[in-house]
Amino acid sequence: MASSKITVGNVEIVALLDAVMDFPFEAFFPSIPAQAFDPYKEAYGACWAPDGRFRTNAQCYALRSEGRTILIDTGVGPGPHDFLGGARGQLLPDMKSKGIKAEEVETVLFTHLHPDHVGWNLSDGDAPKPTFPKARYLVPEADWDLFTKPEMLGQAPHVKAAVMPLRDLGVMDLVSGERALTGDVTIVPTPGHTPGHMSVLVVSAGERAMITGDIAHHPAQVQETEWNSGFDGDPERAQQTRRRLLERLEQEGTLAAICHFPAPGFGRLVRLEGKRTWQAL
Ligand SMILES: [Zn+2]
Repeated sequence: MASSKITVGNVEIVALLDAVMDFPFEAFFPSIPAQAFDPYKEAYGACWAPDGRFRTNAQCYALRSEGRTILIDTGVGPGPHDFLGGARGQLLPDMKSKGIKAEEVETVLFTHLHPDHVGWNLSDGDAPKPTFPKARYLVPEADWDLFTKPEMLGQAPHVKAAVMPLRDLGVMDLVSGERALTGDVTIVPTPGHTPGHMSVLVVSAGERAMITGDIAHHPAQVQETEWNSGFDGDPERAQQTRRRLLERLEQEGTLAAICHFPAPGFGRLVRLEGKRTWQAL
């Protein structure tokens, strides 16, 4: 496996693996016949569990830039998780093994407010506390507006449990539009998967990378950009954003970090036999 740490100009990006998740293809991609993925098995075999299900990762990325540590997403959380056969999330132990302390995180950015991206926000106990005690937690405003609607909270209990308390604790800021986090790191709206979905662009000393959240879940989607997962909230907009962003990353030669792709999720979009292809680092 490629290294979980890369540098892009003056920015260090560390891939963090919280959980490996297996789902039936037909449940994750209900609008795509499962056998349509078969031609991609040779190139992307890591996306198949031994039992044939879709294997995907809940990964997070830590960025070190200008002496600050930024964490992008917080995974499925400590668990244990019934939907993972009782497995526990590994984000904190993985951070520790890679030399990143919870206390050094100054910013936590959520690419979006789905349950596999907000899980480690709070530490349990009688009174929940932020797991990253010195951090401001940045929440995409359009996702906050959507998921905190009374009629949505029933479908999004994780928002009530893991996101709304951040506001009550006074550690949350809503974000929308482009915004610089450091001189080299900027958040960029990439809506479609959710209305407030954000990606993170790194431009430093002539090098470029982008952490793209849930722009795609299976590497086949870099070619088949019209293939949506069942979790893409606005299917048409998700397709449009996926196509445009991947085209741009390919044209610029920008390195991508895609959290649901095989670990560590670093790679480039390249042309092979006329087709856009995911080439892992
Ligand atoms: Zn996700």
